[in-house]
Amino acid sequence: MRLVVIVALVIGAILGVSFWVSQQSGGQGDEIVVYSARQEHLIKPLFDRFTEQTGIRVRYVTDDAGPLLQRLRAEGGNTRADMLITVDAGNLWQAAEQDVLAPVESDTLERNVPANLRDADGRWFGLSVRARTIVYSTERVAPEDLSTYEALADAEWEGRLCLRTSKKVYNQSLVATMIARHGEERTEEIVGGWVDNLATQPFSNDTAVMEAIVAGQCDVGIVNTYYFGRLQERDGDDTPLALFWPNQDAEGVHVNVSGAGITRHASNPDAALQLLEWLSEQEAQEMFGALNMEYPVRPDTEWTERVRSWGDFHGDDIDVSEAGRRQVDAVMLMDRVGYR
Ligand code: FE
Repeated sequence: MRLVVIVALVIGAILGVSFWVSQQSGGQGDEIVVYSARQEHLIKPLFDRFTEQTGIRVRYVTDDAGPLLQRLRAEGGNTRADMLITVDAGNLWQAAEQDVLAPVESDTLERNVPANLRDADGRWFGLSVRARTIVYSTERVAPEDLSTYEALADAEWEGRLCLRTSKKVYNQSLVATMIARHGEERTEEIVGGWVDNLATQPFSNDTAVMEAIVAGQCDVGIVNTYYFGRLQERDGDDTPLALFWPNQDAEGVHVNVSGAGITRHASNPDAALQLLEWLSEQEAQEMFGALNMEYPVRPDTEWTERVRSWGDFHGDDIDVSEAGRRQVDAVMLMDRVGYR
């Protein structure tokens, strides 16, 4: 079994190298390679602008976070990747833990990215903030009925809650953060209460949660705000759903990041750092958030009109690394309470 894995890794590494060699022929000048779990339409406009301003070309591969991380590990010192971009602090933390990211020191990044949204050792930096909040039916729920994530475990929500699957890292990070805030015992009570209140089996994605609320299958759910924005753009602003900002008198709304780090075996680390720093500057920050209706990491960057329409909120300022550090505990806790 072990031999099979090693052979597969070697073949994977060779294929990776040959792919890049063929991409390289005829190339000249400064160039960096990015592995990105963020989709092409969310990153390409940024890379194009960066190239315009610096002359540094950016090649990229997009895939899910898991396969990209596996590929980086398999390629080891042969990788062509200079930078990894991925979503969720849980994934960024895993990448750092698996030693595929190099620590960097940068005054620019330390100034532009709040300390709780980046790795303490400089191996990754948050570049956009995503808020995971409560969404509700404006036909069957009054905002006064809502208060906290914890209260969704109360009996009044029995048969009225819809959730996305616990397999998704977003929910693992949410529960991991709750463990950091409340301890295992209290978190288990809350998440167990959610499971008791479920109207139906967990859904595979956030959009399906909101569609179930619109269809009357349930009344409340928990989603990332940009999915709500996409639904509004698809179905119109009069869709009978609204966002609610919970825990405003306590720690605040659960926030996470998408972010990036320089790879351990980067062949062009200086240009990669230049891109990473550029992504934290004002112009890129405006674009980075706007492309996916997320929030900039810089407090001094303006939000887009649609994002502003959802109102202001106080976000949890916990170190997002907790999402990675407690991920295993979160997965086991959700399993214990039967959250599938
Ligand atoms: Fe997402």
